[in-house]
Amino acid sequence: RRAAFAALRDVPPITKDGHRLTLMVNAGLRDDAAALDITGADGIGLFRTEFQFLVSATLPQRERQQRLYREVLEVAGDRPVIFRTVDIGGDKALPYLNKAAADEENPAMGWRALRLGLERDGLMKVQARALLEAAAGRTLNVMFPMVSEPWEFDEAKALFEAQRSWLAGRGRKLPTTIRYGAMLEVPALAEMLDILLPKIQFLSVGTNDLTQFLFAADRANPKLAERYDWLSPSILRFLARLVEPARAAGVDLGVCGEMGGRPLEAMALAGIGIDRLSITPAAVGPIKAMARSLDLAAITAKMTALLADPPRDMRAVLTDWATENGV
Ligand code: PEP
Ligand code: MG
Repeated sequence: RRAAFAALRDVPPITKDGHRLTLMVNAGLRDDAAALDITGADGIGLFRTEFQFLVSATLPQRERQQRLYREVLEVAGDRPVIFRTVDIGGDKALPYLNKAAADEENPAMGWRALRLGLERDGLMKVQARALLEAAAGRTLNVMFPMVSEPWEFDEAKALFEAQRSWLAGRGRKLPTTIRYGAMLEVPALAEMLDILLPKIQFLSVGTNDLTQFLFAADRANPKLAERYDWLSPSILRFLARLVEPARAAGVDLGVCGEMGGRPLEAMALAGIGIDRLSITPAAVGPIKAMARSLDLAAITAKMTALLADPPRDMRAVLTDWATENGV
């Protein structure tokens, strides 16, 4: 099977009825960028910049950050890389940074990601400069994690723009374009799409965190692992409601949680109109194989019917449908 997936490297993820999905990979360290060539993915849809911080004994200085970003961009070449600003805190506490956070009772809902970044803005300014300089002469895609309200996006973008002006004032070479995006992983943000969407170029749904917040179920608690399902009607309905507003606003919508790397889940996502996925590299082959055996029009009709009148066990129904339809 592995050899069969490897053989799909240069084959595009096109459905039987001719619709092309976009399959990107999640990465975090320099060596992960090699996954692009190994899998034939379309780019890096989520570069978790906090990984460099997590593997360092001390705070990585700007030069080190910049070197990593530049190396990743070089490997990626023409393929896009979406850099997510640090998502520190929660399950990724840094001993040398968030000492206060170490005592939080609910770190996943605590002082993490953009909440920490906007307050400790020195950290974000350094990262902004590292990213802006690393992407000199090309497009920089920046994404902010755990945006809960549109103003947080505004502040984070303003911080980047201020650094851009500062660098421009010193005659430094800058990115040709900066594309700004938000992660949607806090459910409250979905209530503010009309305000948020006109501000952003892309929106990436972090289904790992989103699921735990929608279901009030800790993603790290093994006792709850069976309790919620990515194929539950509430999650799929939630995601389906994002599609039209994003399309109308011209915002590139994708999913970058682990959900997208599972064939049945990716099939359901395609069926509700989410066709850009960023997934773990090992999943690219299996998802390509799924896509190439899928009739998008058929799964779209099926998902519309299922979400209007959801079965209790959506997973069982979709498993049967996939088998019957040769997916
Ligand atoms: C997510 O929450 O779905 C996500 C992609 O981010 P992380 O897993 O890094 O929190
Ligand atoms: Mg997350």
